[in-house]
Parts: sequence; structure tokens; C-alpha cells
Amino acid sequence: MSELVPITVARGDGIGPEIMDATLRVLQAAGARIAPEFIEIGEQQYLAGHSSGITPEAWDSLRRTRVFLKSPITTPQGGGFKSLNVTIRKTLGLYANVRPCVSYAPFVRTLHPKMNLVIVRENEEDLYAGIEHRQTDEVFQCLKLITRPGCEKIVRYAFEYARRHGRRKVTCMTKDNIMKMTDGLFHRVFDEIASDYPEIETEHLIIDIGAARLATRPERFDVIVTPNLYGDILSDIAAELTGSVGLAPSANIGDHVAMFEAIHGSAPDIAGKGIANPSGLLLAAVLMLVHIGQPAVAETIHNAWLRTIEDGVHTAELHGTLSIGRPFGSMDFADAVIERLGQRPEKLTPVQYGDAPAAVPRAPLPRAPQARPRAAKALVGVDVFVHAAGVSADFLAGQLVALAVPPLALQMITNRGVKVWPGGFPETFCTDHWRCRFVGPDGSPITHADILALLQALVARGIDVIKTENLCTFDGERGYALGQGQ
Ligand code: ATP
Repeated sequence: MSELVPITVARGDGIGPEIMDATLRVLQAAGARIAPEFIEIGEQQYLAGHSSGITPEAWDSLRRTRVFLKSPITTPQGGGFKSLNVTIRKTLGLYANVRPCVSYAPFVRTLHPKMNLVIVRENEEDLYAGIEHRQTDEVFQCLKLITRPGCEKIVRYAFEYARRHGRRKVTCMTKDNIMKMTDGLFHRVFDEIASDYPEIETEHLIIDIGAARLATRPERFDVIVTPNLYGDILSDIAAELTGSVGLAPSANIGDHVAMFEAIHGSAPDIAGKGIANPSGLLLAAVLMLVHIGQPAVAETIHNAWLRTIEDGVHTAELHGTLSIGRPFGSMDFADAVIERLGQRPEKLTPVQYGDAPAAVPRAPLPRAPQARPRAAKALVGVDVFVHAAGVSADFLAGQLVALAVPPLALQMITNRGVKVWPGGFPETFCTDHWRCRFVGPDGSPITHADILALLQALVARGIDVIKTENLCTFDGERGYALGQGQ
């Protein structure tokens, strides 16, 4: 018998304690070799003044055990409370959100009985960096950041997950027909890394058609990998399609720590009644057991759980014509799973983790992102963003042409990405936010001092400069969009 693995456990708020107790009961009966360390998180911690709902001592436990089984929590009403999940995810670098979405027809009603897919969502980047600014009276901005190491980590994780789980296909979804640089990078990295996994079928879909196909034919998907925002939306659509949101687990994986939880909330409406379904948390614990290298226990529990469901042992919210007897309470349901330990489902498909290597790698991925040589970077111009209300593009251009300091010259002005000078259309709707592009002659390099001289001249004449973006080439390749979706 190997040593007990320390894990951090939070019983949470609302139905959290009930479903955690039921889950731990099953884990113990199945012989999971774990040593839970309990921490307090959630509503009481928020109200005690911890703005993220977690105490400093809880962080110590998480750093020590590096494995977190978490019940849902309640965030108190009112402002000033930060999301606990976002805080944990960012602080501990949990870069991958993994959500298996499986149908359990006919025991759980769904229009898509054959659905069995996994969404692997990038968890740290994209529009979620929280870098937002109000720039003018009319314009607000959110920065979308996509990095090469971030793409490499998540895409490789998705392929490793597919390989380790015997999954046959990985689908990448982006909007790179519009966001050619950011989503384009994600897609390019996907193509690069796919070549290391020749046995796995790959495809790329534009997110809009991909989401539509997911909603209508989810059975055609296997593993889906996406940037953060698309993955956030897709994973909720996919879970909803299975009809079993209350049963769905998710894992948040980092190089150092991993967190496992049900996707549902703390359900205060049924808290304390002993009727909540512990299945989402129990299946999260199954993911955790595979993660900590106890796949045989995970398989035993998962198959017993499938058998329990198909035997008609259902909690209240699943109760229907295929259910036996009265609705089972949380603990009775746990006991029913325990009675079936060692049995396999006969109608639903059994799972197999027994011989598989760890489903979610604990150690860093097999090939860390490669160190790439730094590109030769050349500064060739600057986009100056200007706040100007009640002016025409031609008027603004006249001012800027007159103020430009050689070698920089005004090349174009766009408004919300639409070129309005030279050669704009009077029909174009303009806000008070202008992107004014200055470049050197014939694309030749300029200096930071040239930009400063330009800005000084503009500001001295009362131009309200909001911000600038340098225009650079990298190894001779343009590092900026030409505008208008080019
Ligand atoms: P949150 O904002 O925390 O996600 P919510 O109220 O939007 O909270 P849930 O807490 O997931 O979402 O609850 C949504 C509904 O699903 C509620 O009616 C709740 O009773 C039910 N529900 C959620 N989890 C369970 C469960 N494990 N067992 C039974 N019913 C559940």
C-alpha cells in the first residue's frame, strides 16, 4: 500500500458540505489513498474581510499539497468581493480548464445521447487579463493578450490529454479570419504542435461555425481546444447540451497545483436539506484521483457511479420514469455508489483508467515550450490614438500633417478600425477616438526619439494623445495589422 497523498479540501457553502461529505465517504470506501487537509473558504471568509474569500493559511495548505478538491462557495451580495476562482486560477497559474461533457441517456434527458467530449480551455490569457481603460467620452477598451508560451502550453496539454485518454481527434476553434495576429498565433501554434501527434486527427474551425456545430452535432467532437473567452462560452453550452450540468466536473490544471470541482454553484435554495446530488463533485474527485496517480480507484468509483445511475438510483433533480423508489438523498446516493463498488455499468459505457498513465500530467508536459531565438526587431512607425470630439477626419488630418516631425509622416487615420483618411467616406460613423498612423519614409526604421519628438509637437498644440502603439517588424515580418481586417 503506497503512502497517503495529502490533498486540500474545502467544504464550501450552501450544499457544499453535504456533497463533500458524501464524496469523501465514497472515496474512503473505495480505498482512495488520500489525507485531506481541510481549509475554510467562501462566504464567511469574505465577510471576515478577506477580499478573495480565502485566508493566508489556506494558501499555505494549497502550496503544500498542490491538489485541491473544492466544493462550491457563495460570494456574498454587494460589491468589493473578488472571485475566488479567478484569484486561485491566476495566483497558482492554473492554465488549463478541462471540462468533460458526457451524455447519460436515457437516464438523463438530452437531445444528444451520443455526446462525449472534453473542452480544454486556456485559462490565463485573452480578454481575461482585466486590462481595460476608458479612453474617451465614447470609447472603452479591453486588451486581448495572447502569448506564444501560453498557446504552446494549452495546445500541448490538449494533445497530451487526447493521447493519454485514447481520444482520436482534437479540434481547435478560433476567430483568426478576423483576429489574424492574436487568434492567428493560437491557430499557428496548434498546427505546429499537431505535427508531433500524427496519430491524432486534427481540425480547425472558425469559432462561430464551430459553436453552431457543437450545438447541433456535439457527437462529432472529441477534444476541443480554444482560447479563454470562446472556451468559457463553449464549455457552458456543451455542459448544458448533455442535460447533466448538475453532474459535470471540471479540473483546473497548472504546472504546480491542480483544482477539481463540480461546475454547479452552491445552490442555497436546497442547502441543508440533504437532497443535493453529489455527482459533480464525486466525478471531480475521480479526475483528481487520476491526477494523483490512483487511476484504479478512480475507475472503480466511476464505473460504480455509472452503474448506480443506470440502476435508477437518482437524487431528486434527476428523478423520473427510469428512477427506482423515492428520490435518494445525498448520503443514501453515496451509499448506493459504495454498494456498487466493483460493478460495471451494463448500458452506459464503462470507463477505463486502469492501465492508463496519469490522465492529467502532474509533472511538466513532456516538452516544455522551446526557447526561441529573439527576433530582429525594427521600429518602423507609431499609431497615435487621439481623443478628438466634433471634428472631421479631414480636419484632424490637416492638423496632424502640419504637426508631424520628420522622418515621421501621417500615413492614415482610422476610426474604430475603418479608414477615414485619406479617401474616407462621408457615410462612415465616427466616434471621438482616432487611430493616427505615422511611419518613416519607405518603411525605413525610426527611433524612439522620433516618436517622442512627434508626441511633444502634438501635445504642445493641444492634441489629446490617449496612447501609442509602436509599429515593429520582427525578422522583417510585419508585427501589426494593416487595419480593416487585412
Ligand atoms: P452560482 O451563481 O453559484 O452558479 P446559481 O444559483 O446560478 O449559483 P447553482 O447554484 O448551480 O446556480 O444552482 C442552479 C440550480 O440548480 C438551483 O435550482 C439548484 O438547486 C440546482 N442545483 C445545483 N446544483 C445541484 C446539485 N448538486 N443537486 C441538485 N440540484 C442542484
